Amino acid sequence: MNTSVVVREVGLRDGLQSIATVLPTALKIEWINAAYAAGQREIEVGSFVPAKLLPQLADTAALVAHAKTLPGLIASVLVPNLKGAERAIEVGAHSILIPMSASRAHSAANVRKTPEEMLATIAAIRAARDAVGSKTRIEVGMSTAFGCTLQGDVPEADVIAFLQGALDAGAECVSLADTVGYADPGQVRRLFERALRAVGERLTCAHFHDTRGLALANTLIALDLGIRRFDASTAGIGGCPHAPGASGNAATEDVVFMLTRMGYDTGINLDALLALRKQIAEWLTGEQLGGAIWRAGVPSAGARVDPSMPSFSP
Ligand code: ZN
Repeated sequence: MNTSVVVREVGLRDGLQSIATVLPTALKIEWINAAYAAGQREIEVGSFVPAKLLPQLADTAALVAHAKTLPGLIASVLVPNLKGAERAIEVGAHSILIPMSASRAHSAANVRKTPEEMLATIAAIRAARDAVGSKTRIEVGMSTAFGCTLQGDVPEADVIAFLQGALDAGAECVSLADTVGYADPGQVRRLFERALRAVGERLTCAHFHDTRGLALANTLIALDLGIRRFDASTAGIGGCPHAPGASGNAATEDVVFMLTRMGYDTGINLDALLALRKQIAEWLTGEQLGGAIWRAGVPSAGARVDPSMPSFSP
């Protein structure tokens, strides 16, 4: 069994784009450095979208440039269109993530395109990349694959058809994203099984939000089906502007804790990650954070019992 798992940090993109605080570039660089020192080797550092839409992510080019100085770190950026992809290729991002919504309503709201128009965009991005001989990897993230706040149910057949369509259009790998936190473990098993039958090992990543507390349960199911790459956000920050009440991604530290305890190798040092979480919580005072492991810490023997405080716990 392959016990090596990649936990891709998306807090700097998915997390920071959804909160009011604009983190200065110097602190983002500190974040990237600390995540790298903790062992993270794939980080989505930002997004190439117009700065007037997402001023939080206006410094993405500088962050890619910095991330590229750290040996072995895969610098990933989100790009919603050809223009963004051209910038990402120009600055030499290692990987681009193109969000495609399986929900037509979310697609219209999020990228102002139909899914079919997004497939044409993916093909254009692939052609642009190949034309300049770039090695930037092209990944398509299938948003709202498990349901949508605007549209409600998203037919599984649509999700599978769009995954296949994205690969046919030139994406090298695809992922399934529960953008708004609707997924439950049964649904995750059903859709991942179906998607794996359809596109096999080119389905490489799962992206879960913890809106309803099921991100870890959903992670476990995808892991069980052979997925070995997960998006997560340190301190569980994040949300979605088109998903009212959406909370952040699965917390990186919780995912790493679970995987490590189960004997998987993430290459990430949990103590270092928890120290980074504490730092991030200070930087983002007043913002809603998520995650669980930071409260009680890693289980250890040797806790002292206070004899004056009997608990009568079962
Ligand atoms: Zn997300």
